[in-house]
Amino acid sequence: MSNKSREIRLKTRPVGLATEKNFEIAEVSVAELEKGQVLVRNIWMAVDPYMRIRMREEGVSHRAHFQLGAALEGEAIGRVMDSRSEKFAAGDYVSSRFGWREMFVADDDLLKKLDPTIEPIQAYLGVLGTTGFTAYVGLLRLGAAKEGETVFVSSAAGAVGSVVCQIAKLKGCRVVGSAGSDEKVQWLKTELGINEAINYKTSGGLDEAVRDACPEGIDIYFDNVGGEHLTAALSHMNDFGRVVMCGMISGLNETKPMPGPHNLALVIGKRLRLEGFIVHDHLDLSASFLKDMTKWIEQGKITWKETVVSGIENAPQAFFKLFSSDSFGKVLVKVGS
Ligand code: NAP
Repeated sequence: MSNKSREIRLKTRPVGLATEKNFEIAEVSVAELEKGQVLVRNIWMAVDPYMRIRMREEGVSHRAHFQLGAALEGEAIGRVMDSRSEKFAAGDYVSSRFGWREMFVADDDLLKKLDPTIEPIQAYLGVLGTTGFTAYVGLLRLGAAKEGETVFVSSAAGAVGSVVCQIAKLKGCRVVGSAGSDEKVQWLKTELGINEAINYKTSGGLDEAVRDACPEGIDIYFDNVGGEHLTAALSHMNDFGRVVMCGMISGLNETKPMPGPHNLALVIGKRLRLEGFIVHDHLDLSASFLKDMTKWIEQGKITWKETVVSGIENAPQAFFKLFSSDSFGKVLVKVGS
């Protein structure tokens, strides 16, 4: 077996939208195994919006900023090829944070064994992984969603947003989503069965579209986008509503500070709660999440979309898709088999 592996490195820090020029591919020799270590060949890796924050030189990031000239990192699923660990054997499926590369050697405490009966296995990067967990924590713990409430979700056909919509439906909420194409709007209405969906690019005015789609106001706004979506949601929140601040993808590539919502003072009169969160602070919910999500999937109550790009060399292309409507659901790279 060849010990050569290709990896994607950050060559230069993006200014605005990332381009091919910010990345380089390199071939490396994989180290010999030492006691307690495992050799893994990646099958799938995820690309996620937070990686754009880590590509900056500095600023607030819950994970370390990427180093120039070093392989990028992120969630991945692979198979153990060789093991000098008592915890893993060749053939095991494992998850790790060693994405953006074909093969790697790691200490066994940096890997997690996955249930091989789960199909498709890449669900561990999506609905059964951080993506699904973020939706669960955000909607149920921070949003405290209750039956009959109206939930508005931005990037509703995205990886997290589409799970939020479905959990909200399961909890008996009225669900309104916003997305950037007619195909996504159609899917949200027909496949996910949400009550209303807005194409924010063609609505002719997001504020009016949100008002019309939420005639009884919004009780919970699940914000994946920030910017105009946050402003529109604030205008139509009900008293004592909750804004779950999950992400602000619309500002990730901005080179200048973004203006705050002009209507922020509404938070006071409406007695709103705006709360940001990092999903990893809520690991106490992971067992109940896995139990609930596995049951919902088995019952056919949760479905999902994937946008798949093949080959490690195309991982940057997969990343670029996140910042356009080119991605639908979870964006994954098929690294190997
Ligand atoms: P995602 O929503 O699937 O992101 C990709 C989608 O974002 C695109 O398909 C596009 O959909 C939309 N988008 C891109 N640029 C946009 C813009 N300028 N304005 C409006 N929409 C835009 O990503 P995700 O992985 O599910 O994550 C959702 C959000 O949660 C992200 O902001 C992410 O950073 C955050 N997040 C937070 C945590 C946490 O712990 N707080 C954990 C995971 C993720 P359209 O076609 O609809 O525009």
